[in-house]
Amino acid sequence: MALTVLPHRDELGIGDGRLFIDGEWVEGSGPEPWEHTHPATNESVASFLPARPADVDRAVKAARRRFDDGSWASWKARDRKKLLQRIAELIADNGEELDRIQTLDNGMPLSFASIYQVSHQIAADIFDYHAGWVDRLAGETLPTYTGGDAMYLTLREPVGVVGAVIPWNAPLMLFAQKVAPALAAGCTVVLKPSEYASFVVIRLTELLEEAGVPAGVFNLVLGTGPETGEALITHPGVDKLTFTGSRAVGKRILQAAAEGIKRVSLELGGKSPNIVFPDVDLDSTAASLMGMVSMGLSGQGCVCHTRALVHASIYDEMIDKCAAMAAMCVLGDPFDPATTSGPLINARQLERVTGYIAKGSEEGARLVVGGDRPGGDLAAGNFVNPTLFADVDNDMTIAREEIFGPVLAVIPFSDEDEAIRIANDTDYGLGASVQTSDVKRALRVAKAVRSGTFGINGYTVMPNAPFGGYKTSGLGREGGREGIDPFLETKTVVVALGDSLF
Ligand code: NAP
Ligand code: MG
Repeated sequence: MALTVLPHRDELGIGDGRLFIDGEWVEGSGPEPWEHTHPATNESVASFLPARPADVDRAVKAARRRFDDGSWASWKARDRKKLLQRIAELIADNGEELDRIQTLDNGMPLSFASIYQVSHQIAADIFDYHAGWVDRLAGETLPTYTGGDAMYLTLREPVGVVGAVIPWNAPLMLFAQKVAPALAAGCTVVLKPSEYASFVVIRLTELLEEAGVPAGVFNLVLGTGPETGEALITHPGVDKLTFTGSRAVGKRILQAAAEGIKRVSLELGGKSPNIVFPDVDLDSTAASLMGMVSMGLSGQGCVCHTRALVHASIYDEMIDKCAAMAAMCVLGDPFDPATTSGPLINARQLERVTGYIAKGSEEGARLVVGGDRPGGDLAAGNFVNPTLFADVDNDMTIAREEIFGPVLAVIPFSDEDEAIRIANDTDYGLGASVQTSDVKRALRVAKAVRSGTFGINGYTVMPNAPFGGYKTSGLGREGGREGIDPFLETKTVVVALGDSLF
């Protein structure tokens, strides 16, 4: 039987999508419905009418009213904390369903949804973690610096209305990384997901409603193409923009922020290096090098380490082992537990990735395995076989640009200095790793490489650890204390204790 995901849609009860504005589920007023097609089969799954600028305006005004009337910002810490904990519980209780809807949206293999950083579990934990900040968002009292007798206090206050825009590749985690700190800080939110992952965000919104988030505090606008997003990022009623996505759209968000002097946080792409020294277990290292770009979402992750920098003494052996690892990937039905690797999100991405593969060969890299597409049942989907390029020079296009597909570029190096130089020779700086059993070398390299996160013999993302990019990989951090600060303003209050301050 030909591959189909429609029984999963029916079992999950996915119907047409709606917007959530001021506590009401409403249809978008866009003229044409967006038909969501599943990336493994290109079958139509469900549709929604996108939000037009007038819908976005109503959502922002609802968030504005709710923020300005003070009724949300003044919630007592204990109540706000309980609300965030309740959201965490509901996400955990409905976790299996959320993972399945995420798979229906973006084709992430269900086997991979158990990987912590893309699962419902991290989304629940991010809300739970931020619940813990609610009663700790304290200011300071400062000593009198000079002049008369006075006391200085700083107050931490919510930044206001947040406009959040997220991509399709890890909607559960990214929704939580934006919404949890915003709610913990006392902000109100209007969020626009990608049209390629709207249905799991709709389900999350239902859970926020069920948890008791007051009307107007969280609003969802669905859209396709720039009209909806533009209406949100340029809206004068929005105080802060928070964005995860591509560098090109990130630049546009920064321009919109400049125009309105809005606060802004950006999580953009990467071209992360993984530096491999000879003193490691080669089999498990090859599995993680190749696995990171070919399993799960097939390289469609911002911190996938797509440049493997391998010491010359183990180079040939490592190439053979990575090729063997590529052969172990199972492409197929994302709902089948045996499937390790999913499709690319859409036809445009398929064209982009195959274009980069052609460019790699044209520019002289050696295609070791992959580069082609599976046939049979999978021909109708957007699949590309795991692809390995050897003899890559760091100046080649496949070593410089984010491909967002299952492509590993392996670059040889001869000593630590050269490895660091190549690792840093990029516009990006999101993630990086080193594989070595020499602890001094590991820490030297960790200090020398310019990236927002760094893995030593392993890499992951956690709610309590800041995540973000150096250089063009972004602005600001999500997670940890640094992840909540951008949702707060600091107000200094001067209290004169005597007759005069001067
Ligand atoms: P994208 O094309 O940048 O889209 C991201 C979001 O921006 C979507 O919701 C998109 O919706 C919206 N958008 C597009 N143009 C807009 C505009 N002018 N104004 C406002 N919103 C606009 O990225 P993507 O293809 O979904 O995701 C892939 C990219 O995300 C990769 O570059 C990846 O590295 C990056 N990423 C980064 C992280 C991180 O944490 N650093 C995590 C995941 C992904 P519409 O298409 O409906 O307009
Ligand atoms: Mg789009």
